[in-house]
Amino acid sequence: MAEAKVIDGKALAEQVRGEVAVQVAALKASHAITPGLAVVLVGENAASMVYVASKGRAAKAVGMNSIEERLPAGASEQDVIAVVDRLNADPAVDGILVQLPFPDPKRVSERRVISHIDPDKDVDGLHVVNAGRLLAGEDGIVPATPMGCMTILERFAGSLSGKHAVVIGRSNLVGKPIGQLLLRASCTVTMAHSKTADLPGLCRTADILVAAVGQPQMVRGDWVKPGAFVIDVGTNRIPTPDGKGRLVGDVNFAEAVKVAGAITPSPGGVGPMTIASLLQNTVKTACLRRGIAVPKAS
Ligand code: NDP
Repeated sequence: MAEAKVIDGKALAEQVRGEVAVQVAALKASHAITPGLAVVLVGENAASMVYVASKGRAAKAVGMNSIEERLPAGASEQDVIAVVDRLNADPAVDGILVQLPFPDPKRVSERRVISHIDPDKDVDGLHVVNAGRLLAGEDGIVPATPMGCMTILERFAGSLSGKHAVVIGRSNLVGKPIGQLLLRASCTVTMAHSKTADLPGLCRTADILVAAVGQPQMVRGDWVKPGAFVIDVGTNRIPTPDGKGRLVGDVNFAEAVKVAGAITPSPGGVGPMTIASLLQNTVKTACLRRGIAVPKAS
């Protein structure tokens, strides 16, 4: 059997960013709007600082304004909420993203801070209002990683209607919204998790298999139905002899690529799509807030 088509998430993300740049240029030309993306960072966690910097660069590269709000690691919940409130009230800010995790989640509650973000500026789609809109089938903001998974499927998988999708993982950030989006696309969706019985057998029935687990290379080749579309959301660092570690997904790529019809590698699949989707969300909030149509991407 031929090897699976390997989806190049980097190339697709590049394409999507190009489309967002066209939309931003159109908003500037027709409405004199420059979408603004604000990122709030508490503390100096090295990985978070890298993510925040790359989000800011990506926003500027497509012609948006990038606003960075930094607070010290010792900032109180009230301090963080005060920044969020100020950004909510700032008409130049279209999207607000609070970089998680906080240095001390017991002191500064993620849930309480996120609940203060104006749902119409919530470009991470984490506010319960946006989770509710997704569940109710209303237009809202969808978290960026699930949205990136759907963009991959929309562009490479053909019709999803009637397909059996198995999603492993039920987090609010990834698994649950992916399940809702697949349901919206008329898939028959099975949500799997750590208590699911006979997970390999269940996975073998999936036309679309999404792994969002956080367990390195857990999904083996013989869990994959021949020809299935495999989306690997997992990003796990495993140890290497040189001590630097190596990133792998939740799927054993070397095995699954021999069985699947298409597969996203990790790294290089879903990961790059996340920031591209965040930029799409910022264009969307900029338009929704003003009651104008989202410009065409090409
Ligand atoms: P969580 O830890 O919040 O959720 C993991 C889910 O996997 C849970 O629902 C858990 O089940 C389930 N699970 C854990 N172990 C097993 C198992 N052995 N068998 C079946 N199910 C299991 O993780 P996230 O959803 O936040 O992230 C999932 C993965 O996606 C991670 O690797 C993360 O790094 C990656 N990720 C990648 C992103 C990107 O590419 N940009 C963005 C976000 C996440 P239960 O609910 O029963 O405990």
